[in-house]
Amino acid sequence: MRTGVIDNEGPPRVGSNQFACLQGDARRSLALAGMIRRLLLWDIDGTLVHAGGMGGQVFDDALIAAYGDLREIRIVMSGKTDPQIVREYLEALGVPAEAATVAALLEAAERGLAAGVDRMKVRGHTYPGVPELLERLAGDERIINSVLTGNTVANAKLKLATFGLDRWLDLDVGAYGSDDADRTRLVEVALGRGRERYGSAGSPLTPGDAWVIGDTPLDLACARAGGARCLLVGTGRYPASELGALGAEAVVENLADADAVAKLLTGDL
Ligand SMILES: [Mg+2]
Repeated sequence: MRTGVIDNEGPPRVGSNQFACLQGDARRSLALAGMIRRLLLWDIDGTLVHAGGMGGQVFDDALIAAYGDLREIRIVMSGKTDPQIVREYLEALGVPAEAATVAALLEAAERGLAAGVDRMKVRGHTYPGVPELLERLAGDERIINSVLTGNTVANAKLKLATFGLDRWLDLDVGAYGSDDADRTRLVEVALGRGRERYGSAGSPLTPGDAWVIGDTPLDLACARAGGARCLLVGTGRYPASELGALGAEAVVENLADADAVAKLLTGDL
């Protein structure tokens, strides 16, 4: 297990309020110069934010509205994509998981989350160090700071905006549960978007340039399938002591030491 031991002089910094400027032509110019060498793909639930139980509640509500009774069926949601969660519920209920059925339930869950933003804001929170860390990394011009999440794109954007984290993330490059129900395919989706948006023929982004940062064994499986490195964080369902045995490049209890985590993710650049 590697920890944040890499020592360097720190990344080149620009004011974080200039990050938006770096999303456009300026960042593309850096890409053409081969300066963008890292794609950071943050999981959302259990890693950046605790959504106050709303993430799971909206699926229960959508399924109860459609089928009346979940018969005490409970699906472990951590690390799974939103369409995967819906399909597993339908399977447990004995309902065929037709594409239209899954889509309708996902839309109902999205409406439920949008209607519950105020409750999410009150009940939920970001994890220690997360805003500071994202702000710091967003100011590093060598990095594309984005997400890889099982949330649909709508749910992802809503959760991140609710806790004020979207300002530091390039969400056009992210990969989402709405892109593929199979999380293990999502690193390639994000890499493709990164290349498309900031591609450089001379030095294209490679899987080795990507880090997946998440809180479950499924985040690690996703990183491995895509050839990315993986940092696991013990703030979700699984404690760091349990995640430590899985063989990720690094495991931390939480993201509170923003300096050490930033060095871990960028120290070899
Ligand atoms: Mg998670």
